[in-house]
Amino acid sequence: MKKKRNMDVEWSYSGSNGPEHWHTLCDWYAEGAKYPYQSPIHLIHGEATDGDEDLTFHYKKEQFTEKEFKNTIHFVPFNTESYVVFKGVEYHLTDIHFHMPSEHIIDDNQTELEFHLVHTNVNQENLVVGILFNLTDKLNWICNDQDNSIWDFDNHIQWFDPSIFLPEKQSHFHYVGSLTTPPTKGPVNWFVFDTVGEMSRLFIEEFREEVLENNNRPIQDRKDRAIYYYK
Ligand SMILES: [Zn+2]
Repeated sequence: MKKKRNMDVEWSYSGSNGPEHWHTLCDWYAEGAKYPYQSPIHLIHGEATDGDEDLTFHYKKEQFTEKEFKNTIHFVPFNTESYVVFKGVEYHLTDIHFHMPSEHIIDDNQTELEFHLVHTNVNQENLVVGILFNLTDKLNWICNDQDNSIWDFDNHIQWFDPSIFLPEKQSHFHYVGSLTTPPTKGPVNWFVFDTVGEMSRLFIEEFREEVLENNNRPIQDRKDRAIYYYK
């Protein structure tokens, strides 16, 4: 069978177009899968080395819209005003989405949810910030003090400062990996916080129909790559 060239080839998390088959679905996915350092991985405190140059956050309250694609819900900023700086390069926040359960596992601990804040630089290179959450019955959608966001479920428009996703304690892992969805290309600079946040179960249930259950890519081989930790 000739491989398709279509960039929108259907993929899923189980069955004949599940993760173990993604690289066979089209040439574009096959190319991405060739990157040797794939994500997600198991992060272990005892195996990480101290990081030096860290990233800085320059987030601001801005307007997001809500879209469903790639088996989850996405919050997409209209003007991409929020950004981070890593090694002197600006990466603008272009997409926020989540996976259930978490894709990264920290010290054998998988949580109910992982948010990905996806950033892109002018060369279209990605930097992703991952934050793990468990669900609670509290009503604030993210259960922290900064949450002054307003969700308009009818119009799918939301104003918030993406900092609300970040835990107060900002210790995190850093490693180089790939996208966790097709085309799983790399390199992607990953920053995964090791404080588990709390997310309102009611908020997540608003998106239940759009988010595929178990939309987490299985853990990939760490191989010989370095994992850094910032206290
Ligand atoms: Zn993701």
